[in-house]
Amino acid sequence: MIVVFREDATQEQIDKVIERVEANGLRAHLSRGTSRTIVGCIGDELSLTDVGLKAMPGVENVLPIERPYKLAARAFGCDASRVSVGDVEFGAEDIVLIAGPCSVESRDLLLATAEHVRACGARVLRGGAFKPRTSPYAFRGLGDEAVELLVEARARTGLVTVTEAMSPGQVARLVGQVDMLQIGARNMHNFDLLEEAGRSGMPILLKRGPAARLKEFLLAAEYILKTGNMQVVLCERGIRTFEDLTRNTLDIAAVPVLKRETHLPVIVDPSHAAGRRDIVADLAAAAVAAGADGLMIEVHPLPDEALSDADQTLGFGEFEELVSKVEAVAAAVGRSILPRVGINTE
Ligand code: PEP
Ligand code: MN
Repeated sequence: MIVVFREDATQEQIDKVIERVEANGLRAHLSRGTSRTIVGCIGDELSLTDVGLKAMPGVENVLPIERPYKLAARAFGCDASRVSVGDVEFGAEDIVLIAGPCSVESRDLLLATAEHVRACGARVLRGGAFKPRTSPYAFRGLGDEAVELLVEARARTGLVTVTEAMSPGQVARLVGQVDMLQIGARNMHNFDLLEEAGRSGMPILLKRGPAARLKEFLLAAEYILKTGNMQVVLCERGIRTFEDLTRNTLDIAAVPVLKRETHLPVIVDPSHAAGRRDIVADLAAAAVAAGADGLMIEVHPLPDEALSDADQTLGFGEFEELVSKVEAVAAAVGRSILPRVGINTE
């Protein structure tokens, strides 16, 4: 950390800062330029986070040098990490496709969707049981019944499953029932939930908050990693901007930036970014071109009738087209989506 002093800072003010830095266990290295004085703080700068240096008389600015997310940061030359969910690996050469309905609505719907997306190359089945909805009057998921249906779909198709936990209490409910826990965008700052999810030892799919900076996103991941659970996959799902022709703005730069900042795998959810069906495949292609390790897509047999997120949900044919498009882009960037096992046309 570097403390920059105002031009008119007095020696007494500088000494007080040095005293406080040293009282917190760091060494202070004073450097006088022609007009400015700076103090370099050598040691664990995180211990200076809350000691009020910026507010001390004579101080103009305090510049952190280290990244505050120690466990999430990608150290120079270190390999990207891989996250295993059953037999699926995020962060490897293959791009992982997660697909399924926004909400689990019924047994038939879930099983039909699971079969179809598997046939198209998806490896992970998604489906909300507990749904975060903007309006309390909207469909909020089937809850426990949906969890049981996810268990059945997993047994029938062999697909691993991911669903959202909205509260720390729901984490225990989902452990052993699904293969991966999703922390939704609205809960990215729910620190109790992050810790509880981390302590469960389950792989976690962490979505970026709609107004979260990437640093904040990585600090949210850090809450999980700090529990000792390193199985975290990050998901960019669009952020809120002034644009209103899309539901959110897909921050495509987040993909290469995160891949430089962190060793964790990064996937993209173009469905919630777009909020409209017609551009989901284009955004998916862009995400893969930008280096995403996976995609999460909302799919439903009758998308117009979906009980949540109908506007952005793809029908079966549209999902198949998306996969073809994304496969071509994946090949162009030296990656692949696992071979299809044949479309079930029954
Ligand atoms: C979802 O995946 O269904 C969902 C609610 O996403 P987000 O948290 O990104 O809005
Ligand atoms: Mn949704």
